[in-house]
Amino acid sequence: MNLQHILSFSSDELHEWALEKDRRDALGHFRERFYLPQRDGETLTYLCGNSLGLQPKATREAIDRELTTWQNHGVEGWFEGEESWLSYHRYCQKSLAAIVGALPEEVCPMNHLTVNLHLMWASFYQPTAERYKVLTVAGDFPSDQYALETHLRFRGYDPAVALIEVVPRKGEYSIRTADILDTIAQHADELALICMSGLHYYTGQVYDMQAITAFAHRHGLLVGFDLAHAAGNIPLQLHNWGVDFAVWCSYKYLNSGPGGVSGLFVHEKHHTASLPRLAGWWGYEEARRFEMTKGFVPMQGAAGWQLSTPNIMALAMHRASLAIFEEAGIENLRRKSEELTGLLEMVLQRINQKAGMPKIQLMTPTDPAQRGAQLSLLIENEGKKVFDALTAKGIIGDWREPNCIRLTPIPLYTAFEDIWKVGEALENYWKL
Ligand SMILES: *Cc1c(COP(=O)(O)O)cnc(C)c1O
Repeated sequence: MNLQHILSFSSDELHEWALEKDRRDALGHFRERFYLPQRDGETLTYLCGNSLGLQPKATREAIDRELTTWQNHGVEGWFEGEESWLSYHRYCQKSLAAIVGALPEEVCPMNHLTVNLHLMWASFYQPTAERYKVLTVAGDFPSDQYALETHLRFRGYDPAVALIEVVPRKGEYSIRTADILDTIAQHADELALICMSGLHYYTGQVYDMQAITAFAHRHGLLVGFDLAHAAGNIPLQLHNWGVDFAVWCSYKYLNSGPGGVSGLFVHEKHHTASLPRLAGWWGYEEARRFEMTKGFVPMQGAAGWQLSTPNIMALAMHRASLAIFEEAGIENLRRKSEELTGLLEMVLQRINQKAGMPKIQLMTPTDPAQRGAQLSLLIENEGKKVFDALTAKGIIGDWREPNCIRLTPIPLYTAFEDIWKVGEALENYWKL
């Protein structure tokens, strides 16, 4: 899709173009299925779904249904009815699998994201005397950094020695795939695991997970991805790529509520009982769980990593949101997402063109294949003032010190007109 022609549009022409896109948008009606935040009776332009996705209107009813079951049946809610709580994770597996490109038994909602990282490393980080290092990307999300650092210490390694971080080249924001592969090759003899984000939370870069996985496997290495910013944002093929494990959260692009349940993927090839793991009773073979006998017998597949009695309210919210993804189709959402983000990029370029200087720089790759919905804007010196001006105009993005604004159009509930509004607010700010 080439949008260069909009650079020469007047503001009114651009507005009309965006409105026409909205009128023709086959996914446009999904916006009505969400609560859009308001301020003083005005609907806000919400471009922060990378941080907390909006509430589907179906969510309240989904919770209410489980409250009613609890009210009327007490503990029997676990076993009674067609939708007993005991099997609740199953009601999410199919739709979740479609989102990350997996078989239903390869995925399971459970726990929280950082907990799941530790659980996956307990199983997949199996250091030997020679091969004990972990490769990741520098500047990953803080929780992942803290988790890796402390996990390595817990296993008796000094992170300063055992952790290898790939950095962008000088003057670049993204990390080149070739540099990741070269670093893997260089350290292959001492590496035990590769674990990194699939989509970087700060720069918005999508890493070539398929190439990294294939290359690592050729060197006999296991590979896991944190997909917190990728799940529900970009199409994934975890099964076909042969990724060993993955984790994600559901409160960002997956709209499943603040602190919502996390998700976990374990490739079919690892569905054996022999992998070491930190277990709990909820991962125990379901048919025999209530025999309460000694000796852990895992459930088949990802479900075997469940630890505790699930939070049914969180799963109900998750399920309500996943149903919307199933209806819309992740490929359709991606097509619209590329258009929305492409439009946002052009709108920003138009500002630079009108200003006659690069007021805004993009940290995010311009190649749509290397990014998701989010664009990370670098604005020297006056970044915070620009951010405040956008907020004053009802445009909600998020601010990252020292000079970064992240704006994220979400295909389920962002309109093309919303992107035009961003352009208007920026023209207004710089008086263009
Ligand atoms: C959002 C995010 C987290 C947050 O972890 P929680 O355990 O859900 O608080 C962790 N890692 C990445 C990469 C994230 O984007």
